Amino acid sequence: MNKAVYWFTQDLRLSDNKLLNALLGSSKHMAFVYVIDPTWFEPRNYQHKSIGLQRWLFLCQSLRDLNQQLINKGHHLWLLEGDPSEQIQNVIQRNNIDCLGVANQVGWYEQQAVRKIRHGCPSLDVQSQWHTTLFNEDSMMDDMPMSSFSRFRQYVEKHDIPVVETIKCGPISWPAIITDSLVDQIPLNFEQRLNQYTQRFKFNNNKEVQANTFFGGEHNAIRHLHDYFSTDAAMRYKQTRNALDGWASSTKLSPYLALGNLCPRKIWQYLKRYEAQNGKNESTYWIGFELLWREYFQWLLLQKSRQFFMFQGHANEKPLTSYYSERFTKWCQGSTPYPLVNACMRQLNATGYISNRGRQIVASCLVNELSVDWRFGAAYFQQQLIDYDVASNWGNWQYIAGVGVDPRGGRHFNLNTQTQMYDPNGDFVKKWGGQNTVPIDSVDAADWPIL
Ligand code: FAD
Repeated sequence: MNKAVYWFTQDLRLSDNKLLNALLGSSKHMAFVYVIDPTWFEPRNYQHKSIGLQRWLFLCQSLRDLNQQLINKGHHLWLLEGDPSEQIQNVIQRNNIDCLGVANQVGWYEQQAVRKIRHGCPSLDVQSQWHTTLFNEDSMMDDMPMSSFSRFRQYVEKHDIPVVETIKCGPISWPAIITDSLVDQIPLNFEQRLNQYTQRFKFNNNKEVQANTFFGGEHNAIRHLHDYFSTDAAMRYKQTRNALDGWASSTKLSPYLALGNLCPRKIWQYLKRYEAQNGKNESTYWIGFELLWREYFQWLLLQKSRQFFMFQGHANEKPLTSYYSERFTKWCQGSTPYPLVNACMRQLNATGYISNRGRQIVASCLVNELSVDWRFGAAYFQQQLIDYDVASNWGNWQYIAGVGVDPRGGRHFNLNTQTQMYDPNGDFVKKWGGQNTVPIDSVDAADWPIL
């Protein structure tokens, strides 16, 4: 192959990237690109942006890490800006590129973009592989039961579906850099381009944002993975995973998985090695169990496509919820009548992260106590979460709203019981100022018409 371009998407790493390795070995010249889509920063998704400041900062860290690694190899990362399929087609046509490498992705828009490129550049050799999942598409045979997570997990365990092995290292010599200017004009350098978007957030006056708890990039991801499995935290995971706070209570691997700083196969490998060295128990099993939840949602989204985002989802009837602007705004701000919900939402707004239990509690509250359409909650999470993942986020929201594939039809968490179980002394509520409650609606009985 003469000239190849590798398009990084949700696989921001150099290791455990079979496709990248193959292209590095077979191409004479190569370039590496990432596309920033300016529409991410516009409130187009149920009034919210597709990316908030916390995830943007994490993404910038990941891109810097990747760029530095490429610089060390005599290359660099081109940051393109605009509609992804148009940008990539422009690069392909302008530079006579023969081959494009891009990871297979489960998101509908992402698949559309690749389809458009194939259509617009018919002679281009587009190569793709699965490297953001545990399994290969071949293992996801037609008879894989997808109607519930339990059936999926049981099938995987019974048939011993193999997790794809990680790859050891890349080629020793790298192809030459494509020296021409890849695009017509690149007036801004790498840092300037990232900073111009960071500035937009600052101008939006996001005062509550705290310094990042997570630091993005492949190096930080591998360090964190190593640190986590160097302690005995994994041995207690099942007992601690539902805690509302605490760094070691769960693995905190999700942000790295979401941007592909880490491959799930590498986590699986660390988990198995840890079990071999320290012994298996219910907790170590449960980490694998949760990774299977992630895996399940990835393949489910691929199967269900746009149905994954629809109000009714897979249910027989539409939910009895609607859009109440005031309630939704209060929920987003953490100013509801429910201290525990307020604390979780304030934690989310300040850090970009809340525990799985916290997510379940606030999602259930939005749908069941506030009767708001679940899609607004999912879109708000998409903006705020540092670990936003299209399949895990929309899949979990559907599940809680009772329009997913859950055979039990939705989840309603009793807020008093949850408070007694997970914050009996009120420490978590106090820490995040959740006790400042506000009535659900500003309209009081006096405003109702006399019939
Ligand atoms: P751990 O408890 O340590 O779990 C290990 C890994 O397993 C996680 O990193 C994650 O990859 C996977 N996992 C755990 N629980 C789930 C789950 N319920 N569904 C899918 N995968 C899971 N997770 C995301 O990664 N991105 C999202 O956008 C996201 N949105 C969510 C929205 C709602 C309403 C709910 C209820 C859950 C959501 N989750 C999401 C799942 C889960 O809350 C997070 O993956 C988890 O809290 C991340 O913390 P951790 O890495 O410490 O998880």
